[in-house]
Amino acid sequence: MDFENTAGFAAALDKEDPLAPYRERFHFPRIGGRDVIYFTGNSLGLQPKAADSFVAEVMQDWKSLAVEGHFKAEKPWWTYHERLRGPLASIMGALPEEITVMNTLTVNLHLLMVSFYRPDAKRYKILCEEKAFPSDQYMLKSQLRFHGLDPEEALVEVPRRNGGHHWHTEDVLSAIAEHADSLALVLIGGVNYYNGQVFDMEAITRAGRQAGAMVGWDLAHAAGNIPLKLHEWGVDFASWCSYKYLNSGPGNASGVFIHERHLNREDLPRFEGWWGTRKETRFLMRPDFEPADSADAWQLSNPPILSLAPFLASLELFQEVGMDALVAKSRKLTAYLEFVLQEIDAQVESRFEVITPEARGCQLSVFLHGEGRPLFDYLMEQGVIADWREPNVIRLAPAPFYCSFTDMYRFGQILKEGILKGRA
Ligand SMILES: *Cc1c(COP(=O)(O)O)cnc(C)c1O
Repeated sequence: MDFENTAGFAAALDKEDPLAPYRERFHFPRIGGRDVIYFTGNSLGLQPKAADSFVAEVMQDWKSLAVEGHFKAEKPWWTYHERLRGPLASIMGALPEEITVMNTLTVNLHLLMVSFYRPDAKRYKILCEEKAFPSDQYMLKSQLRFHGLDPEEALVEVPRRNGGHHWHTEDVLSAIAEHADSLALVLIGGVNYYNGQVFDMEAITRAGRQAGAMVGWDLAHAAGNIPLKLHEWGVDFASWCSYKYLNSGPGNASGVFIHERHLNREDLPRFEGWWGTRKETRFLMRPDFEPADSADAWQLSNPPILSLAPFLASLELFQEVGMDALVAKSRKLTAYLEFVLQEIDAQVESRFEVITPEARGCQLSVFLHGEGRPLFDYLMEQGVIADWREPNVIRLAPAPFYCSFTDMYRFGQILKEGILKGRA
């Protein structure tokens, strides 16, 4: 499609955008009397307007039913988390029984390691991408040390090629082949948080499993952003947070995927709690653990219903729209943002460098060579909420649920003004 960097063209794209009405379903912060241009849905998604009433419903049930709310609320609390399973299964490309919601992401990765990282003398290495999200690095290294292993030796970090900005699938595959005999686990961020790159999860999962390793994915930046087929790809396990593209609210509960072939396995160790038992017999309070026949077997505690309420509100929007429509808009919107950046780059003779490769979701990470913090401060003052990493990388994630083509055009104009002002 031939784009134009004009207000009229952007407005025309918004007019033909079937998702445009969904912008109204979210609360936008306001700066200078107008809605901000929100590029940080990859960090914390905006609040769905429906979230309030979902939370109010739980507060009301608690007020009027107290403990009876567990079974007598209109949305009973003891099965509340099951309402999230169907919508999450569609988003993640999973069977409903492969999904559960519990705890938070880093906690879940640690818990999943109990089942899926069981090093022995021969197979003990973990393979990940270099410079993984810090929490993932801490998690992996502490797991290795917990098992008495030295991360220097047992953690294989695949580098970006030639010190460049992204990873090559072949490099990941050849690292898997090289360490095949000693590899216990492959665990990578499916979408890299820094450069926005989407890894070839299907090919890497296949190669890891063929090598005899378990393959898990951290999908923090993938869930609700890109199409996923975790079941079909044969992924062993995955976890993701819900407060980024899934718009569930700050620090909210995390999702977990466990492949069908690992459900109901008696040989798989697991840390257990009462919420992992079959719900039919749970309240008989028996001494023996009778696992649920779904990913719920990994649940420990009864979940925080007040947190699940806004999460459910958001997932209902995802159900209504579907990932196909979101991804279609995301591709077009991100392409338009890239086009606008190129146009502004040419107009101000700057040196923008998009470091996000073709395999991407909705995030563009851009080096603004020669620019610095004052430009970022100017953008913020003008109502552009973006993420700035020193020295001069800006991360822009136009989430398709609520960002418009006009936002991209306006951002370009504000960026241009900011750069020209900085030079004056
Ligand atoms: C956001 C993010 C996290 C955050 O972890 P929490 O446990 O939710 O605080 C972890 N890993 C990756 C890759 C992330 O992007």
